[in-house]
Amino acid sequence: MYPHDLQLYQNVPIGEIMLDELQEICETRLKVLTLVERIHLQKLTMSVSQRKVALVKELYKEGIDEFARLINSSECKSHTDVDIRVRRRDHISHFVLRSVVAFNVLKKRWFFKQETRLFKWRFSSLNNKGIKQFMRINDFDFTPISQGQKEDIKEYLQMSSSHVSNIDSMQFYRVPFSHVTSLIKKRKVFVMHGEAFVPEGEIAFMFVPYFKRILISSFEAARENRAKLYNDERFTRIFANLENNIHIENTILVQDQEVQQYVSLNQLDKLSETSYPLCMRVLHKALRKNHHLTHGGRIQYCLFLKGIGISLSDVMILWKNEFTKIMDETTFNKEHSYQVRFAFGQEGSRRDYQPYTCLKIMESIVGPRDYHGCPFKHMLQDILEDELTNCGFNALERSAIMNLSKDGQYSAACNKYYEIKHNCFNDTLFKHPNVYFNESVKHHTYRYHGQDLETEDAY
Ligand code: SF4
Repeated sequence: MYPHDLQLYQNVPIGEIMLDELQEICETRLKVLTLVERIHLQKLTMSVSQRKVALVKELYKEGIDEFARLINSSECKSHTDVDIRVRRRDHISHFVLRSVVAFNVLKKRWFFKQETRLFKWRFSSLNNKGIKQFMRINDFDFTPISQGQKEDIKEYLQMSSSHVSNIDSMQFYRVPFSHVTSLIKKRKVFVMHGEAFVPEGEIAFMFVPYFKRILISSFEAARENRAKLYNDERFTRIFANLENNIHIENTILVQDQEVQQYVSLNQLDKLSETSYPLCMRVLHKALRKNHHLTHGGRIQYCLFLKGIGISLSDVMILWKNEFTKIMDETTFNKEHSYQVRFAFGQEGSRRDYQPYTCLKIMESIVGPRDYHGCPFKHMLQDILEDELTNCGFNALERSAIMNLSKDGQYSAACNKYYEIKHNCFNDTLFKHPNVYFNESVKHHTYRYHGQDLETEDAY
């Protein structure tokens, strides 16, 4: 029944279990899923395997050793009674929780997200042998291509897998292209005659969407299962308790803005280099260099910071630290602190001002002492070129961006800037600096280990 530590939970669990144990294993799983969410949100800049390590550490700390070992499993070396029992408890708890959340859209969504993450993190534990076992057990008939086949298309594999350091020793799997559309979108695999050649390091890309599809299609049956138990008080009590133990308030708050949370002040210098759009990078640099920004710059940057999740008190600290290098504290308090509190809705009309869109920024009136506005529209061409040089762009890259800017295609210039900086293809122009920032952070976070599957477009 349980040949592998990692499961797709496709079959209904069978056998007997005491109600106490049922409740206990489901409560434990909820704790695990809650930790998954917490670690995901707190450690956005970590890779999948780093987050998995953090989870395992937490689980040991909480005394949930059984799950910690399961999550850390690299291959299935043994099938002792204890191993089978642990896998069975994993199976049953997952199955029961599907029914627990089945009637609540938000809790179902929460469960789906955390289970998908957990699956992905667990998959990252598998070594080559573990992956092969997993594929064999679940009837995935993907065989690695032979050395001879690899030689024939080596040149193309090299081009499409530039992130793979050693093509010769890497195994490539031939799979229908429809299984790895996200890799194709990112141009990370070679496709020929409808088949994609996936390096083993990217193999999770195939299984995570598969796992998601199983989960989505299972909720109907889970609803029915729960409905069937409506008249059985023993179950309704357990299900109600478990459902009440799922706290999704934080998730709802950050639903589409996960990136906005947990950005702290000391990350800003680095983020301004890696993830700020040029308009905000210029403002941050000017603030650090001149310890001052003119009115338009203060508002534009302050609202952007608010949008990426910096708190009012942190923005105040940043402002104060810089401004008081050129003025005394009394002047700062009198002339500048009000404006920061105003932007955060703590003064005056107390409106919740939103970060500016690109359109609004492009409509700004910009004078010679100002750093705000959209650099692709407002900056003098030679200053823009200096900025791009400062970003590390070569002459060819600079001219590609400058030509778009000169042509009045400011959003396209910004997009080209993003593509070059992130070494990727981006087919949707940015309309908001905060969207640019979020996409960039996601890109850096999810670049490896199939992490861009985190987006739940299938759901
Ligand atoms: S296009 Fe938008 S995000 Fe990009 S630099 Fe201009 S204002 Fe900023």
